[in-house]
Amino acid sequence: MNRVVEAAENVFLVNGSAVNWILLRDGTDLTLVDGGYPGDVDDVEASIRTIGRRPEDVRAILVTHAHADHLGAVNPFHARYGTPAYFDPVEVAHAHRDYLEQLTPPTLLANIWRPRVLPWAVHILRNGATKPVAAPHAEPFPSPLDLPGAPVPVPTHGHTSGHTAFHLPSVGAVITGDALVTGHPLSPTTGPQLLPAMFAHTSRADLLAALTPLESLDANLVLPGHGPLHHGPIADAVASVRATG
Ligand SMILES: [Zn+2]
Repeated sequence: MNRVVEAAENVFLVNGSAVNWILLRDGTDLTLVDGGYPGDVDDVEASIRTIGRRPEDVRAILVTHAHADHLGAVNPFHARYGTPAYFDPVEVAHAHRDYLEQLTPPTLLANIWRPRVLPWAVHILRNGATKPVAAPHAEPFPSPLDLPGAPVPVPTHGHTSGHTAFHLPSVGAVITGDALVTGHPLSPTTGPQLLPAMFAHTSRADLLAALTPLESLDANLVLPGHGPLHHGPIADAVASVRATG
């Protein structure tokens, strides 16, 4: 099940069962940003129909980073509709699975005693978290990137080596992926924050440094990879993340 929120005109944040994706609509055409878990593909298609469009109307999938919970629709849409998938140039090899920068089952098991981890782990395993998601057709952003909704990539390398955010200048919004989230099934709080530390592949200092390119964006609306829509200047959201311990 998903919940489709019209965050701004023609900009839709979809809160899936454990991760978000975003739809940008321009007339009959769409851009899909992130693709949910492998088990979310039917839900992604349902969300597209909810806003009156068809999956084949998606001109491209933009992916913030190549984690399994953001890649779910990438291969099925390519197979069914020929949809291309674009990434930050640094992230393409990760999407190809030339290497993997993701929480591994041993790390997950080592954290299973923590509050909330077990039910979440059961849920994501049911949702295809361990299904193969390598995307051989993953490509770097074409130049110019001319897609519905006019998203502008903002490199925010940290959560993964080639993680990217997307600025939507025409509506003053920013899609922050997993660089900055507003909640997570494993987090006891909502509001701007980093993901729980067990997901980190780099230091907290590096994760915070990756937020610097967001601070100067003209954006009063934050569409995160996990958690609810957040209203307020992105600079303030980044400052509150930096201020938390
Ligand atoms: Zn991630």
